[in-house]
Amino acid sequence: MEKKEISLFVKCPLCGKSLMDDELLLNNKPSVRVNIQTKKERGVLHLCSTYGCTLKKIGITVEEGEVVEMFCPHCNKELNINENCPECEAPMVAFVIRAGGVVNICSRNGCTAHHIKFKDVADEMSKFYYEYGF
Ligand SMILES: [Zn+2]
Ligand SMILES: [Zn+2]
Repeated sequence: MEKKEISLFVKCPLCGKSLMDDELLLNNKPSVRVNIQTKKERGVLHLCSTYGCTLKKIGITVEEGEVVEMFCPHCNKELNINENCPECEAPMVAFVIRAGGVVNICSRNGCTAHHIKFKDVADEMSKFYYEYGF
């Protein structure tokens, strides 16, 4: 069976504004844009919006394994949540999915841990199918 790709349209959980960047495409889809802060500098991070895809584009140098802080480009608030990565213990970051639910990703460069949380799985998945047309 062919694997379906789910493209996520995400928003800031704090101000509700879209984090999608239509100008920078990754995997032929608008990317997710956040501001990041390392120990040394501030920059921009673009993540692929296809769920499970780890493609990304970082405007500054982030070392493999370095944990970055992520901020909303609109409200400048930190997107970290009170949850640590099950694989590497770094703080997890949350984005709200427009179709419903939340996607959490690890803030450590190189760690690919991520998961989606739905309040009501059946209901949210049906919205998903509706939204993405498959
Ligand atoms: Zn925001
Ligand atoms: Zn991790």
